[in-house]
Amino acid sequence: MTVATILKHKGAKVETVRPTATLQQVCDVLSTKHIGAAVVTGAAGEVIGIVSERDVVHAICQGGPNALTRSIDEIMTRDVATCRLTDSSESLMETMTVGRFRHVPVVEGGRLIGIVSIGDVVKRRIEDTDLERYAMRDYIAQAG
Ligand code: AMP
Repeated sequence: MTVATILKHKGAKVETVRPTATLQQVCDVLSTKHIGAAVVTGAAGEVIGIVSERDVVHAICQGGPNALTRSIDEIMTRDVATCRLTDSSESLMETMTVGRFRHVPVVEGGRLIGIVSIGDVVKRRIEDTDLERYAMRDYIAQAG
């Protein structure tokens, strides 16, 4: 299974924020959209960072409620691991496990075209395993 298959099912929608957004504004996005991370994009739409709920917890733990007025630029992770449409779900899971993060933006030709979370990968793999199981059951039932 590839990243392309996962995106085909979940869609290409990615929530993005600008680096000048405040932590409060990012909390609003994460909360209203029911997501765990937002990609930070520059003027041309290029990926310049990522901010996840873990970064929010860390910033508030360190700075208290005042942290909510800080700009995302000061909080985001800048060295973002991205993937491509042809990457396999296995390599994606390895990237997430080794890097200890749960979100990977999909970039093709410098353009942000989606995001995959560990939840998306697991969901798709379970659905694939179920399909295989049903096919095997039908095959065995017919053979018998
Ligand atoms: P997460 O598990 O996605 O909530 O992220 C945990 C930490 O890793 C946070 O500090 C994120 O900013 C960072 N992070 C999330 N996704 C990525 C990624 N694709 N590349 C690099 N860092 C990331």
